[in-house]
Amino acid sequence: MARLKLKEHVINRDWCKGCGICVHFCPKKVLELDSQEKVIAVRPEDCICCKLCELRCPDLAIEVVTIQTNQEAQTDQTTRMSEDD
Ligand code: SF4
Ligand code: SF4
Repeated sequence: MARLKLKEHVINRDWCKGCGICVHFCPKKVLELDSQEKVIAVRPEDCICCKLCELRCPDLAIEVVTIQTNQEAQTDQTTRMSEDD
């Protein structure tokens, strides 16, 4: 299976109402509210791309943009080929 890697968090500050739902649900404490009560990604390097923040935001104000790496897909194929032998 392809592995997802974080590209960026796209946050629409006009739409974010500072409810903190995404901050609460993030399992890796990546997100915080800033002094203007808008969400920011303070620890993007810890993001595991679970997209819970994006899925839970009632205002569609946060999007987790990812890129796919096919490192695992290649590994799977190699495993399958050796099993066939
Ligand atoms: S859940 Fe959405 S509206 Fe609420 S703080 Fe997060 S980004 Fe902002
Ligand atoms: S994708 Fe998951 S780990 Fe990353 S910021 Fe959102 S909730 Fe946190």
